[in-house]
Amino acid sequence: MKILLVDDTKTDLMVLATYLRKMDHEVVTCENGEQAFKLFMLHQPDLLILDVIMPGMDGHEVARRIRSLGDEWIPIIFLSAKTRSEDIVAGIEAGGDDYLTKPVDQTVLIAKMHAMQRIAEMRKRLLNMTLQLDEANRELSRLVNVDGLTGLASRRFLDQYLENEVNRLGRTHRPLTLIMADIDSFKAYNDHFGHIAGDKCLKTVSATLLSQLHRPADFAARYGGEEFCIVLPETKVSGGTHIAERIRVAIESLCLPQSPDIEREYVTLSLGVAGCLPDSPCNSKQLLKDADEALYQAKEGGRNQVRVTQ
Ligand code: GH3
Ligand code: MG
Ligand code: MG
Repeated sequence: MKILLVDDTKTDLMVLATYLRKMDHEVVTCENGEQAFKLFMLHQPDLLILDVIMPGMDGHEVARRIRSLGDEWIPIIFLSAKTRSEDIVAGIEAGGDDYLTKPVDQTVLIAKMHAMQRIAEMRKRLLNMTLQLDEANRELSRLVNVDGLTGLASRRFLDQYLENEVNRLGRTHRPLTLIMADIDSFKAYNDHFGHIAGDKCLKTVSATLLSQLHRPADFAARYGGEEFCIVLPETKVSGGTHIAERIRVAIESLCLPQSPDIEREYVTLSLGVAGCLPDSPCNSKQLLKDADEALYQAKEGGRNQVRVTQ
């Protein structure tokens, strides 16, 4: 263990440090409370052995200050010639875990160090587990927020993002545009080329779609199987329609061959556009519904086109 040993009596300090080093512990020593607090922060020891009576900041005060940091728990053993029950109670109330009476008996010291070692190891394992748990939680939230196939945001993340942006921009009376896009006749594509080719096509379409978004707040998500949503904050419907048309052209220009069963030669996209007007009430559900309605009209109108709901 790394032990911080604090005692204002030099000889006691030296004797105890020698015992502890013989037991193979790493020992950092100091002779007053102020320095103890600084060394504690610097070395982050596994155990603190603290003399109670010291000039200036005494042992109890050091323990109280360390406990008040609150973020970490480390065992503290008090060292004192005082062994009355009220002294032991005061030590525990100040944040101590155990007591060693002076002069220190070597056998008792060895036994207590073994007990503390066990605690230190448990604490390390606990810290390790906490780190692993944090990492797993981060990975989990990445998995639910990102679509595994396309790398775009997931529908779950879109729902949160859209709701936040609609509220934020509503408060500041600024516009927002939503585009909903759906690959045309994708079932036929899958039936003809197979599912693996279908997945590859989805990736290509996603990357192309993303390449058409230039502002940092512009945002694309995979909404369903072959459906996408694009959020354009601070963008009027006229501007959003322009971007939707640019995306449509970019997908058509990929010239990805479509199934021969379909009259259109290449893979195409239909897009529906809807917007929040700066001065009228808006909510994300209605916006999704409006964009979906516009998308339906684009499909009805013959696909490979952009339609707008005002
Ligand atoms: P429309 O032009 O009206 O949109 O016709 P469509 O065939 O694209 O629409 P429909 O909703 O009938 O079919 C969607 C198809 O998309 C169903 C399925 O074959 C395909 N699809 C959905 N998700 C995936 C996926 O993750 N991978 C692959 N390869 N295909 C998918
Ligand atoms: Mg489709
Ligand atoms: Mg669809």
